Amino acid sequence: MDNVVVLGSANAVPDSRHDNTHLLIQAGKTNVLVDCASSPVQRLEKAGTSLESINNIFFTHFHPDHAAGAPLLFMVMWLKGRSAPLHLYGLEITLQKIRQTMELYDYHTWPGMFPLAYHFLPEGEGYRAFEDENLCITTSPVKHLIPTIGLRVDYKDSKKSLMYTCDTEPCPAVISLAHKVDVLLHEAAGNARGHSSPQQAAEDARAADSRSLVLIHYDYSHPELAKMVEQARQIFPGEVSLAQDFMQIGF
Ligand SMILES: [Zn+2]
Repeated sequence: MDNVVVLGSANAVPDSRHDNTHLLIQAGKTNVLVDCASSPVQRLEKAGTSLESINNIFFTHFHPDHAAGAPLLFMVMWLKGRSAPLHLYGLEITLQKIRQTMELYDYHTWPGMFPLAYHFLPEGEGYRAFEDENLCITTSPVKHLIPTIGLRVDYKDSKKSLMYTCDTEPCPAVISLAHKVDVLLHEAAGNARGHSSPQQAAEDARAADSRSLVLIHYDYSHPELAKMVEQARQIFPGEVSLAQDFMQIGF
């Protein structure tokens, strides 16, 4: 199974059908979770992925709609008897806050709690953060309200690739990390500081020469929702679509 599963596609405001944006990257037996929004436990179950199969989690930044689900996910893993270390990847400032959150919950007092292994990623562009026999993940800092990383996934078997911008306004780091990717998964929260409009996402996709564009992290209640894809199509000549919860992108 080589897929990226959209576990949530909403911006910071979820509803019963749209969770906050977080992703499951599947490549062979490798499963990587990207961010921990409100309910990854239920979402992973619905996606048919066991908690035991998750050994690696990337945290893009420490905003609640990307990180608030972590303590409950870790507690459920512990209650289900996990003993293997869980590997966490992110900027030092992000992971220190995850650690501080877990300390508020006194997780060292949970009997037999499995180890959390913190992997601090440097803030430089194009850092090879993770690699195994199935895929590699490269990170670059993007331009959000707080330190944030975007990431590129390269599948080794199919040679296909995806770049996920996370929350960002247009910036050169996105364009270079997304260079010629098969899928650019670009946030489209709107034209505001630290975010992008569908048109800006399309401009990034065109500049990066990506093959397709999927808009994510957008406002479901927006009155002109249907126009978002249309607006992007006027700028970017490749395929454009809107991410939906539980959508699977095949690689
Ligand atoms: Zn954010």
